[in-house]
Amino acid sequence: MRDVTKFLSGFRRFQRSYLGKQRGLYAQLVQQGQHPRALVIACCDSRCDPALLMDCDPGDMFVVRNVANLVPPHVQATYFAATTSAIAFAVHNLEVEHIIVLGHAQCGGIRALMEHKAPTCNEEELITKWLGIAEEARRRVLNELKGKSMQTLTHACEQSAILVSLENLMSYPWISSRVHQGKLGLHGWYFDMQHGELYEYMPETGDFQVLVNKLEVEA
Ligand SMILES: [Zn+2]
Repeated sequence: MRDVTKFLSGFRRFQRSYLGKQRGLYAQLVQQGQHPRALVIACCDSRCDPALLMDCDPGDMFVVRNVANLVPPHVQATYFAATTSAIAFAVHNLEVEHIIVLGHAQCGGIRALMEHKAPTCNEEELITKWLGIAEEARRRVLNELKGKSMQTLTHACEQSAILVSLENLMSYPWISSRVHQGKLGLHGWYFDMQHGELYEYMPETGDFQVLVNKLEVEA
């Protein structure tokens, strides 16, 4: 119950911040509707709330969260419609200009994918089926990093799964056509929560490079 009380006092702070000082912003969002410029596909992990990480205002980003921030391929779009319908709404209705797939370190979903245990109950079966979307990432990592530790493999798979999701986004004709017309940009970001850094996938070099360095603590 303590946690729920914390949420209510948090909502009161939100009221004071956004419905008090920034009443104008919310009034505008209510009257004119939302016009976010970016869709962020993030993990359900409680440590990776994109609006908190990017310190956004209400209305800035449209967010889809699922286990391991995965995008199903076009051929499975109707099977995994919770995620794909949200992507369709963001692209077709809201006409976002950017899609950011935001992966992260210490992802429990990717760890489960790498451990590759057979499901022993209905709950695990659901998770395994969902994580199967990133099976190609697991396969690539096992091929490229043979003999490496599970920690190294899992870290690599966290980033490789972001690339699979970016590739899967391009399998949707209504996404790839917008990308080719320059109306939509796709980005693969990776949050290293241990070091507090943000990385971006660079197609030119084929690897992830630092986008925002870790905070320098003043002596
Ligand atoms: Zn995760």
